[in-house]
Amino acid sequence: MLIKTLYEGHYRALEEDFLELTRCLRKEEKQFTVISAGTGQLDRLRRLLLSDADTGIIGGIEFLPGIRHLAQKISPVPLPAEKVSHSDRTLFTLHAMKAVNEGEPLFDLRENTETAHSMGTFFESLFEHGITPELYDITSISLSGGQSITEKTVGRILGSYDIERRKGYLSCGDMILEQDISGVVQGTYIFYGFYDLNPSQRRFLKRFCNSAEEVFWFSPVSGNSHWSSIYKRTSQLLQNMGIGSLIRSGNRMQMNSFAAFFEALADQSIPAVPVKGFRITAVSGEIGACRAALGRIVEMNIEEGIDLRRIAVVRRKQEGESLVRLAHHEGVPVNAPLKTKLSSLPAGSLVLNLLRAIGTGFYYVHIQNLLASGIFVDELAADPLEIVDVAENSGIRMGLQRWRDWYSTAREKNRLVSFLRKLDTFFSGLPPVALASEYLEHLRNFFEETVSGSIPLSIRDSLFDPREFTFSGEISLPQVSDALRLNYQTRDIVLRPADPEGFRVVTIEKIRGSLFDSILLMDMEEGIYPGSPDEDPRLSEELRTRLQMALKTERETEDGFLLRQAGEAAGKSLDIIFRQTDSEGAEISPSPFISNLVHLDNSSGKAAWFVTGSSSPLSQMAGGAHPGQKRVLAAGNGDYPVDPMFSRAYAAEHSRMNYGGFDCYDGIVSSSPVKLDRISPTLLEDYMRCPFALLMSSKGWKIRRTELTEIGTSPDPMIRGLVIHAALEEIVKEQGFFPTEKRVDDILREQASGHSLEGRLGSELFADIFIEKQKQIILSSLSQLAAKGWKYKGSEVSLEGSLGDMPIGGRIDLIMEDNASNLILLDLKTGSLPGKRGTTEGRHFQLPFYYQLAAQNYPGRNVASAAYVSVSERKPGKLMSFTGDEMENLMKSVSFNAHRIVSMIREGLFPPVPTVKCDYCDYSGICRRNPFSRIKAKVKSDKRMEMFAGMVLKK
Ligand code: SF4
Repeated sequence: MLIKTLYEGHYRALEEDFLELTRCLRKEEKQFTVISAGTGQLDRLRRLLLSDADTGIIGGIEFLPGIRHLAQKISPVPLPAEKVSHSDRTLFTLHAMKAVNEGEPLFDLRENTETAHSMGTFFESLFEHGITPELYDITSISLSGGQSITEKTVGRILGSYDIERRKGYLSCGDMILEQDISGVVQGTYIFYGFYDLNPSQRRFLKRFCNSAEEVFWFSPVSGNSHWSSIYKRTSQLLQNMGIGSLIRSGNRMQMNSFAAFFEALADQSIPAVPVKGFRITAVSGEIGACRAALGRIVEMNIEEGIDLRRIAVVRRKQEGESLVRLAHHEGVPVNAPLKTKLSSLPAGSLVLNLLRAIGTGFYYVHIQNLLASGIFVDELAADPLEIVDVAENSGIRMGLQRWRDWYSTAREKNRLVSFLRKLDTFFSGLPPVALASEYLEHLRNFFEETVSGSIPLSIRDSLFDPREFTFSGEISLPQVSDALRLNYQTRDIVLRPADPEGFRVVTIEKIRGSLFDSILLMDMEEGIYPGSPDEDPRLSEELRTRLQMALKTERETEDGFLLRQAGEAAGKSLDIIFRQTDSEGAEISPSPFISNLVHLDNSSGKAAWFVTGSSSPLSQMAGGAHPGQKRVLAAGNGDYPVDPMFSRAYAAEHSRMNYGGFDCYDGIVSSSPVKLDRISPTLLEDYMRCPFALLMSSKGWKIRRTELTEIGTSPDPMIRGLVIHAALEEIVKEQGFFPTEKRVDDILREQASGHSLEGRLGSELFADIFIEKQKQIILSSLSQLAAKGWKYKGSEVSLEGSLGDMPIGGRIDLIMEDNASNLILLDLKTGSLPGKRGTTEGRHFQLPFYYQLAAQNYPGRNVASAAYVSVSERKPGKLMSFTGDEMENLMKSVSFNAHRIVSMIREGLFPPVPTVKCDYCDYSGICRRNPFSRIKAKVKSDKRMEMFAGMVLKK
């Protein structure tokens, strides 16, 4: 009989029996140890015992927050618990994968660090569940279909990983639980709150209970409840050990209304909601959810007088951090630290950029990023743009030797020269393979010598912490770089400590057994409740079952029970918050646990417990307690303090967020800067592409962006177009449609040189590659056109004319004649051909304008067709043409649209209304196209922009 008494029931009932038992033990003057499933429960039990003791003092009781802590306590050599670092997970696996042979699964991935990291993390989850390499092997061999080749290979890697792991780590959780227990363990032990022990915990407990003097067990699940399936294995273990007496604590006392509500959800899809203190809030987006939670917390604290320490928020998602960030930012006390990853700190990204620069052969962009960290000592802190200038002028893109040649002959010995010399010395001192600790030392030395002293010592130590690299073999520089990156990306750094007086943010597993006045349960969305277990393709469902790991099929019951326990933790009120949309505005369904209730409410719209949070970005962003946010909201009510700048900024933001028409913040100007003395088709097309971009361009306000020149292996589309246009027109003029290859080459080279192509590409080789490719495209386009039998008449022909009362002009790329001396007008396109609809719908004006100009300038000549010609790799020589008759039929609507656009330009209407993708637009940083959904709404409600209705780009 190893378990003296087993108590089963909900937490409040268990607590009564727990106090009763401890009173007896204390009376008998027994020493006892309480082992609980987590610190939350332990705090609760400690408080209960304190308030139960007459003196307010409790002695002779030891509290341990988990089974691993118990194993540590009884260990002959207690060591602090360790966790295998993410860098070691990667390096151990990379080492273990060396043994994978060609033809075996994973052979091609044996040097892939991402795979190694994910596999190492998978192995750690196996160890955590008590699954040893031997157990994995025996279990997979016993599967119904036998051991697959993948399972066999993974098993071998796991075995080898385990050997490396044991060399570097002595006291991981699974190792502590494995130890032998010799002799009798003195004293009384009370296990509290455990119901789903993993195999490794069960193995330990079996040995422990065999040696312990006296054991009591408190389980929050009853063997006869509908949650019993998740208690099955633990219950079986207890039964096998022998139970002296069973007390069903829960039979004597009812659960609170919140727990009863979740309990009922397991049987009824629409149970009655708790009468008091219950609320469901629907919100939009993650910020909306955090705003609703924070607003409610402040309301409970200020209006209802609830101590912040008595409020807990239950979060499950990774994004849980955003609530903590918001609380820290807005000054609401929160008992959770503000954290960031080591890779996000300037010092962390400096080390990663240094390794990236080395890994890419000192590619200038990475040197630029390195300099942009802004934390180098003064004598090395070169302007990041200097390296771009050097790259542009010298043509050097990468290669240490080329940089070395440059800096050693540079006339001016400036910071960049010193920096490159330092980088060179550092790199030259790096061994190709070494122990990780050696690399860390080199990196640390470089860091100490080059970085200013303002970085705290704790951060420096974290960056080069040798304890994160216990792998004892030699590794290469790329391997240490990857391992370091994975380490930085997973390592938390505390920026601001937790405030013990603040509200708590906990996971649902940690809320079990605690008691707060108010619980806010967030993330009640589909896919989160119930969540999906970490499914790893390396484990089949059968193997998971045999290894006794969590199954997908059990997840709904597990989460149902977790929710019930969260309900038990709510003393006075329970708020459920769920998101209806994500941050991008995409719809999200509520969790199946509450969907029936939510939909029911949506249809009736009457329940007082259902609230919809504001979806206004203004109230989400400015609804906090920060003084700046308060001023913004006050300004919304007309309360502008002294600062006119502030009120203008507010008015601008307000106009962005409303659904009315466009205003002065959106490019509606009182006087248009665009010249309209002679209207060209490109001016009208630019306007139709995006009025705001036209206003900014050289035809309007002439706003120029000074930014880094893109250096690449091919020129940007504009230069490419200019070179090909000019070359092709020259070739046709001189050689017709049958040019010699040599002449095409020569003319292309002349044009390329006229546009400084080699300088732009930074290499003669890239320029040669470009010319060779374009030559073939031009030859193949011309051979297609040659089949038409046209004769050359003119190129780059500038013509002037009129469209009704409107003076117009344009330059036609090529004018040809057919056999009957009819004119053919051609416009060259080096990108994709415009669709026909662009012209018929009134967005493209080139061909109708050319038609009109040719008809007026060549009286008596018939224009047989006007066409776009593709000079591109994919469709060389392809035409998109209109006959003269088709053009004639279009002219009325073309004229109408052209007049309309001109009057819109005169009126000063230049809002950001893109009808093509904004990808290459230079003005995306200054236009107000976001949030994009509002552009459509504004176009709809602004009569002046009627012409754009239905044309705004769909995003
Ligand atoms: S980014 Fe788009 S909306 Fe903004 S100016 Fe450019 S084209 Fe117009």
